Amino acid sequence: MKENFETQAIRNQTERSQFSEHSTPLYLTSSFVFEDAEEMRASFAEEKERNLYSRFTNPNTSEFVNKIVAMEGAEAGYAFATGMSAIFSTFAALLDAGDHIVSCRSVFGSTHSMFHKYLPKWNIDTSYFKVNEVHLLESLIQENTKILYIETPTNPGVDILDLELIGNIAKKHQLIFIVDNCFATPYIQQPIKFGADLVIHSATKLIDGQGRVLGGITVGNKDLMREIYLFSRNTGPAMSPFNAWVLSKSLETLAVRVDRHCENALKVAQFLEEHENVTYVKYPFLPTHPQYEVAKRQMKLGGSIVAFEIKGGIAAGRSFLDNIKMCSLSANLGDTRTIVTHPSSTTHGRLSEEDRLEVGITDGLVRISVGLENVVDIIADIQQALGV
Ligand SMILES: *Cc1c(COP(=O)(O)O)cnc(C)c1O
Repeated sequence: MKENFETQAIRNQTERSQFSEHSTPLYLTSSFVFEDAEEMRASFAEEKERNLYSRFTNPNTSEFVNKIVAMEGAEAGYAFATGMSAIFSTFAALLDAGDHIVSCRSVFGSTHSMFHKYLPKWNIDTSYFKVNEVHLLESLIQENTKILYIETPTNPGVDILDLELIGNIAKKHQLIFIVDNCFATPYIQQPIKFGADLVIHSATKLIDGQGRVLGGITVGNKDLMREIYLFSRNTGPAMSPFNAWVLSKSLETLAVRVDRHCENALKVAQFLEEHENVTYVKYPFLPTHPQYEVAKRQMKLGGSIVAFEIKGGIAAGRSFLDNIKMCSLSANLGDTRTIVTHPSSTTHGRLSEEDRLEVGITDGLVRISVGLENVVDIIADIQQALGV
């Protein structure tokens, strides 16, 4: 029987030990023991599937991986110390010197740094298309292009890319299609259904959901995952058993948490849309969102992030942050606590205005990661900070 999402997230559990524990214990052990020389030989030869060393697998990381594999409809996966180690290891495992990447320009800041600072050391270049220029994507594909990479919804502009459309382009040109699904979570969107070969998450965000531990994961096609696994077991970016234990528990409540995050975020977006000091609001499930139809097709709910443009540019954005009382000023997102940021004066402050506009960051853009406090209190804080 194929169980439903919430049931898999809870019941997909490591086999009980001789102590008959109800909740999976923490397996803090770097290695595992063998009965005899033959068992050890067979295990290293991979004739026998079992834990050898926690850089390879561990019961806690395997439980976490098995849950995400089931949630995303993937075949295999591997858990990493951080979202960035998942992204870097995935690219490093699959690419050869001289390969080429096509990516949307609106990607996480450190992913962009990897593309333009580090991968060129191995003669691997990246060509970017803008979120509103998907029609130019095919013209960027070269003979040596190997990977097509996107995030949707994007950060911090909350734009939506059409997974099915881009998945079909990847298939036509036989590219490996990789989606960073961090903003949506597997509860809201499963990119593999639309043709993704691999899905990556920063588990640090909504998967942990409480701002405690770092983590990352890549899941997808088993042949590609085999390459990524072999690369990782040799180079060492593995997730710690402790973090996997925390994150696997977090997955048990992912569906209920994300339901409430999205309910609160929609209410915040609707409130902002009516506010006189707000020029526009971007939230995937508002009918005014430019890609509303695409969002409805590929997402179950609108997500936890709301972006809006405050009247008055950089000064108004900074003053909004200064006036905030309850919500946190922090770089994280997907936390129980509502977080507000002003990208043009902080995370993206070092970019030129032109580069900022390229990724949809206008001077007055404010990003809210809507948390799980009572939405009345969240809106009250935003309202008083907006003035009027
Ligand atoms: C945070 C984030 C990452 C990086 O994850 P870390 O766990 O911080 O390394 C990658 N992609 C997206 C979309 C993110 O939000």
